[in-house]
Amino acid sequence: MKAAAFEHVDAADVQDALRLLASAAGRAKLMAGGQSLGPMLNLRLSRPQSVVDLSKLAALTSVQVQGQDLLLGARLTHAAIEDGRHPALAAHPMRQVAAGIAYRAIRNKGTLGGSLAHADPAADWVVALVAMGAAVCLQSPRGERERPLEGFMQAAYTTELADDELITAVRVPAMTDGRWGYYKFCRKPGEFADASAAVCRVGPAAPWRLVLGALDGPPLLLSAFAQELGEPGAASLTLSRLRNAVAAALPERDPIDHQLHAVCLARALAQAGWPALAA
Ligand SMILES: Cc1cc2nc3c(=O)[nH]c(=O)nc-3n(C[C@H](O)[C@H](O)[C@H](O)COP(=O)(O)OP(=O)(O)OC[C@H]3O[C@@H](n4cnc5c(N)ncnc54)[C@H](O)[C@@H]3O)c2cc1C
Repeated sequence: MKAAAFEHVDAADVQDALRLLASAAGRAKLMAGGQSLGPMLNLRLSRPQSVVDLSKLAALTSVQVQGQDLLLGARLTHAAIEDGRHPALAAHPMRQVAAGIAYRAIRNKGTLGGSLAHADPAADWVVALVAMGAAVCLQSPRGERERPLEGFMQAAYTTELADDELITAVRVPAMTDGRWGYYKFCRKPGEFADASAAVCRVGPAAPWRLVLGALDGPPLLLSAFAQELGEPGAASLTLSRLRNAVAAALPERDPIDHQLHAVCLARALAQAGWPALAA
């Protein structure tokens, strides 16, 4: 199948992109790397009147250090993050996540902002960055706003982005003193995950955040269970304990899903420094 006809327009800058979006009154789509929008257009799941191409917007590829945070431009590619091209990303755990996304050809084009806006429940960034407590920076003709990523994704392929709004940047913790783990199950390397889990503590005084992903909707934060677990080594950790916590959080899912997510969580916890599971 081929895409239905649409007008392709290169945005000159963010203001131009916002003007083009506003004038299309909901009938335009932004395109960043085109790695998700391209297939949607070809399958005619998306039939916009115009496509506003962001690829000329170099300003959206910057990396800024702001105190304990990094402000990552929405158009940073997965490959740029994987390669740690900016010094602030050189030792950042996002590199590990980026390296596991699809194949290098897709990582060369696919972007951070595009992935978060597309909101595929099985995508890597939506899960990993909720665990980090990231936020998205949005801009529209009404001004700028910053929203926690937790809650930004409302359902599969649905976010709180308005039709005339774009993601300019993503705020993530610098993770200079953080602990971290991420694990996903894929049938083949490069495929979307069947189950995933991320574990993060951004600094020694911060709470642990445990997140399950690749669900039917947004990632799920296991806040009460994270509190119950306490610090690594504080409580004995068994796979059956993790499976019970997953089953309680996802009662609608079948036992195979519970097991897959529990194993993802166990492996993410081990990466974050939890002692090996008791038998
Ligand atoms: C074969 C294949 C395998 C893949 N495997 C994985 C995987 O394992 N893990 C994973 O996480 N992803 C995977 N992906 C998706 C890939 O990571 C895409 O890069 C990503 O989903 C979309 O990024 P993009 O820049 O290409 O966005 P685009 O395709 O250009 O856009 C996607 C959506 O986001 C909107 N958008 C883009 N940029 C912005 C912005 N700045 N502000 C607001 N809205 C915006 C567009 O309008 C569109 O609705 C895979 C894709 C393919 C084709």
